[in-house]
Amino acid sequence: MQPTTFCNLDCRYCYLPDRSKRLDMPATVNRAAAGAVARWRDSGHRVGVLWHAGEPLTVGVRKFDELLSDWPDGTAHQIQTNATLIDEAWCDLFDRYQVRVSVSVDGPGDMNAGRVTRGGGPAWRRITAGIAVLRRRGIPFHVLSVVRDPAPGAARSVYAHACAIGAEVLGILPEETKGSHGEGSSADRGAWVAFFAELFTQWRAHPVVRLREVESVANCYGAVRSGITAAEVLSMPVEPIPTVAYNGEVTVMSPDLAGFRHPEHGAFTVGNVVRRPLEELLGGAGSVPWVREALAGVDACRRTCRYAVACGGSWPANKFFELGRLDGTETNFCRNLHQAKTEGALLCHP
Ligand code: SF4
Repeated sequence: MQPTTFCNLDCRYCYLPDRSKRLDMPATVNRAAAGAVARWRDSGHRVGVLWHAGEPLTVGVRKFDELLSDWPDGTAHQIQTNATLIDEAWCDLFDRYQVRVSVSVDGPGDMNAGRVTRGGGPAWRRITAGIAVLRRRGIPFHVLSVVRDPAPGAARSVYAHACAIGAEVLGILPEETKGSHGEGSSADRGAWVAFFAELFTQWRAHPVVRLREVESVANCYGAVRSGITAAEVLSMPVEPIPTVAYNGEVTVMSPDLAGFRHPEHGAFTVGNVVRRPLEELLGGAGSVPWVREALAGVDACRRTCRYAVACGGSWPANKFFELGRLDGTETNFCRNLHQAKTEGALLCHP
């Protein structure tokens, strides 16, 4: 869910196209999405909702409270935030709705040079102030760190920082070429393999913060060791990951395509949740031309790439922004993340 397009920061590597505009989600859009989830309540599945794609906290506590109050009980809400606006009132709301908090911060201060305010000044002090409020209130939080330079020692610094601030989980994203950011990390795949090997080695020596990337590799190995064949993994359906934009347009397969257009197929949407129920939009998504092209890309990955069992092959935004097409396969991003973390796990030293 995209409660607003606006962000109060202007990070140098941000890909969001409308982050300087304040386009907030109206109640009609929110209720249409929440209504779909209410209809699935008897399915036995718990629904998780991630609020992101802008800085969600800029809508204000009262408006966000109204948004969450429309969702059925039992919905697992999570928020991706730069933490700069977190105060006691936000913590009260996180407690009230049991919102899981994930903070975007890139390691210790000197690794956050790209995180800047709208005036171009460093955002670091404001980020750490927000994290301090979370810690004072005892609210658990995850950390998502963008890394541009995987130089030796970088993984050690990022992991040590996550431990020092008391994060529960650490996720890593190599800086991407995506959306309005045209220049991702220029480091080669070998440097990223070494980065992940160092990261996993740090974690093994001091396993106090869960590592998202090591868990995804471990899940894959665990599945194969429990007797699930690679062919079975590769025949699993593609996760639709419906993203509801502020205006109700629904994008599938990658939140990062929301708000962008394909030169031939037009906007990356499968329809609007205000005009058609979400389940109908998802049911028909496979016949939308740009989705068909993206699914052809997943097929190509699963047929040709030896990392597909771990990666799944469904990264249409990176394919589109790097290769100019959705039905391609390998990108710098997948070499730097999916391939490198798999290799890094094998090289990690006890
Ligand atoms: S690692 Fe890259 S090429 Fe391989 S399956 Fe994943 S996205 Fe496709």
